Amino acid sequence: MKTIKTKNPYTQKTIKEYQLITDDALNDKLKQGEAQFQHWKSVSIKKRTKLLTRVAELLIERKESYAKLMAEEMGKPITQGIAEIEKCAWVCDFYAKNAGDFLADQLIETDASESFISYDPLGMILAVMPWNYPFWQVMRFAAPTLTAGNVAVLKHASSVAGCAVELQKLFEDAGYPKGCFQTLLVDHNQIEDIISNPIIKAVTLTGSEVAGRKIAEIAGKNLKKTVLELGGNNACIVLNDANLDEHIETITWARMQNNGQSCIAAKRFLVQSEIYDEFLERFKSEIENYNVGNPTSEDAKITCMASESLAEEVEEQVKKSMAKGATLFYGNERQTAYYQPTIITDVKKGMPLFDEEVFGPVAAIIKVETKDEAYQLSSDSKLGLGAMIFTEDVEDAKHRISEIEDGAFFINEMVKSDPRLPFGGTKASGYGRELSKEGIMEFVNKKTVYLK
Ligand code: NDP
Repeated sequence: MKTIKTKNPYTQKTIKEYQLITDDALNDKLKQGEAQFQHWKSVSIKKRTKLLTRVAELLIERKESYAKLMAEEMGKPITQGIAEIEKCAWVCDFYAKNAGDFLADQLIETDASESFISYDPLGMILAVMPWNYPFWQVMRFAAPTLTAGNVAVLKHASSVAGCAVELQKLFEDAGYPKGCFQTLLVDHNQIEDIISNPIIKAVTLTGSEVAGRKIAEIAGKNLKKTVLELGGNNACIVLNDANLDEHIETITWARMQNNGQSCIAAKRFLVQSEIYDEFLERFKSEIENYNVGNPTSEDAKITCMASESLAEEVEEQVKKSMAKGATLFYGNERQTAYYQPTIITDVKKGMPLFDEEVFGPVAAIIKVETKDEAYQLSSDSKLGLGAMIFTEDVEDAKHRISEIEDGAFFINEMVKSDPRLPFGGTKASGYGRELSKEGIMEFVNKKTVYLK
């Protein structure tokens, strides 16, 4: 029987071995979920949101143990893990409070005596999720999707199988009926069969562009809706008038959060020439002061990447960029899965550090002369998740909103997700939106009802 082993990237030791489920067991789970849907779809919104509130409470009660599990499975610093779980509780509370309004029938005046849109659940939704925010990525999908009356199955990244198992338990412990939320310990090669199964009505994937294309292809063949949250290569524009005293900490953290493994991290820094030297020095002194250590240590801000092979990939991207003329300004030491926060200058289009998503703690710095050049380079990417700008001329930034092609534009703040605001990308960063009212609307049948 096939198994997956989880491994602590900091100690390099195996944590646990999990058996993948057989095809028969998989079919049983899908059937159980389908049967549950027939009941769950008619449970009142009041009861559904009450259960969601219980999930939020359990998350807070268990935040230390969940953060420890993430620290062990993918090296997340424990304090950032606790913050992640608190954010999961927030998204549950947000939908517990607002889902009733979002899902209420929407009356529309027409020639009919009554016409409206009714928002019905679709059935079973498959979520394929990544390891970098093992709880958050799942909860931001599950909270709205289950509350809308759907049931869900999760294929989590194999490296966080322990988190995947805990997530199913979380919903069951909160009182969700069996089959509402199920974790499937399957190989990603089994995904085609799962998506093709008529029980599955739609798919959401958060992950790489490669996985996104594969899933979209299979779902397209089966005429099933997809939401894709893929990679990012976010630009961070720093103009001559940026207030570095106020913002340098945020700017630096925009790149280094989660050991640099965030889709919405600032990856390409477009820095105007007059502030360039000061920016580099201040960026460096920020990252020099980061505490480096064991993921379970409360003092550690930087720990290690989620695996040695991921760190090697980043090293390769840096090496290839330097071979094309990029310059090492700071850092670039690697020990197994640890990658030192690094600054690389003279980055240009045509180098991996400009063209590709770099999923690790490496800041690619590009000097620009004019604002126009900064905006043009910002959108010069096949990805379009988000962009940020730091400037004291907020009015000018607001006038240029339309020049940003991404799914988000943050002014004097790093790109971040918030349950109240839609989240998602353009171009090869995917399509569809999560969070806010938009997120809960992705997996419902917007049914037109017309009474003559
Ligand atoms: P992967 O795409 O490698 O994995 C994501 C999920 O997809 C995993 O469950 C994985 O399973 C599965 N998967 C991988 N390849 C295939 C395939 N060919 N067919 C079907 N399923 C597949 O991404 P990572 O886990 O490495 O996560 C990092 C990526 O996720 C980055 O590109 C990042 O930018 C993106 N991301 C996007 C976010 C967003 O909101 N837009 C947020 C966070 C991350 P298995 O583990 O078994 O391979």
